[in-house]
Amino acid sequence: MNTSGHIHVDVIIIGAGVAGASLTALLKNSGVTCALVEANPADKDQDTGDQSRTDPRALAITIASKNILQSIGAWDKIPKDRLACFRKMHIWDENGLGEVNFDSADLYEPVMGYIVEQRILEQALETALNKSDHVSWYRPAEVKILRTEKDKIYVGLDDGRQLSASLLVAADGQSSTIRRLAGINFKIHDYHQHALACVVETELPHQEVACQRFLTRGPLAFLPMAQPNQCGIVWSTTPEHAAELKNLDEKVFNKVLAEAFAYHAGEIIHTDSRTTFPLARAQADEYCRPRLALVGDAAHRIHPLAGQGANMGLLDVASLAEIILQAREKGRDIGAFSVLRKYERWRKGENRTMMMTMEGFKYLFENKTTGLSWLRNVGMDMFDSIKPIKHEVMKRAMGLAGDLPDLARSHF
Ligand SMILES: Cc1cc2nc3c(=O)[nH]c(=O)nc-3n(C[C@H](O)[C@H](O)[C@H](O)COP(=O)(O)OP(=O)(O)OC[C@H]3O[C@@H](n4cnc5c(N)ncnc54)[C@H](O)[C@@H]3O)c2cc1C
Repeated sequence: MNTSGHIHVDVIIIGAGVAGASLTALLKNSGVTCALVEANPADKDQDTGDQSRTDPRALAITIASKNILQSIGAWDKIPKDRLACFRKMHIWDENGLGEVNFDSADLYEPVMGYIVEQRILEQALETALNKSDHVSWYRPAEVKILRTEKDKIYVGLDDGRQLSASLLVAADGQSSTIRRLAGINFKIHDYHQHALACVVETELPHQEVACQRFLTRGPLAFLPMAQPNQCGIVWSTTPEHAAELKNLDEKVFNKVLAEAFAYHAGEIIHTDSRTTFPLARAQADEYCRPRLALVGDAAHRIHPLAGQGANMGLLDVASLAEIILQAREKGRDIGAFSVLRKYERWRKGENRTMMMTMEGFKYLFENKTTGLSWLRNVGMDMFDSIKPIKHEVMKRAMGLAGDLPDLARSHF
């Protein structure tokens, strides 16, 4: 603690979700002192080691994200019986014969990606962070005051404690308090859709294939999980329909879901708890200010059909860590605007490219003009057969293309 009563560290990170916890792990391994502030109390199951509860949110994780998580020692902390891979993806339309099929073998890769529950990934990250002299946790705590001066940034927590640092990173999610306190504009495109998420047991095994069926009201995804007959569901639909589905009796819901998926997985045997999320696409006008950087959902949001939100956040933090550590090595101020602008230039463009690629893909499948339904199906088949374009989209979605930070690359 310094004479002014502030606890001083190199970097304050607000939010211990996937983005914030990963950044902290990346920095502490290089000796950067971090204060990690998290609003939610610690997960009780983390302390007791109880991982029996499933999280309705199953995340598709790219090869690039796996490389980052491996480098910070979190990948090996994911229990093997909670980690799955998918080798193929099958996408088709309810109203026609058009379809698109992706296969990792086309790119000489053994897998397209991995599936892990969000809570299990967050627990693995927390385990990787534990027992580090370079990390101090503030939990549960929320930021109430934010003040920037020439050579430091200050925060006041709701419990009265005060922190200062050379840099503050907002990893506090889509409703970021830091973004609001800094007055940074967040341009939101509301899809007027909600996603219903849950984990189900199916009659037929998934065979490591991820599937999406485009229905009139939005896409329905089945993501293969670690058990052969277990899938994570993300069903994007109108807010009213999502609420209705959430409140259905389980047996009725199982029937409705099996039918909506055209019995592709046979009957639905069991459904765990169901949760809904509002869907939007958004991008912050600025990713940085002097002594402040935004990462993860605090900087951007994307439709879950892309399966990219957490992956984009991991690329943000690996890029930011690379820039911070390079600046430190050269003796430069890690909170200087000129240093942080490098991060903004790098990631804002990359994230926009990903968002626009996925938006185009969504448009191809979701064009609701009935008269154009045949055109849409022809479009899908054409996309499926034009290999160079299809492979470029695949490489982006798998985290094999784009301007990747060093830690995200596969090193052979
Ligand atoms: C249905 C669904 C399916 C998805 N599927 C995928 C997928 O397949 N692949 C993928 O990559 N992504 C997917 N996503 C997106 C992914 O879940 C998010 O992009 C990711 O969780 C964002 O991580 P984050 O760390 O940036 O933010 P968050 O996970 O929101 O974490 C923010 C953290 O900050 C804390 N916090 C908030 N405010 C404060 C404050 N004032 N002070 C202190 N702490 C604070 C919160 O408690 C939280 O712990 C999906 C999302 C949904 C809704």
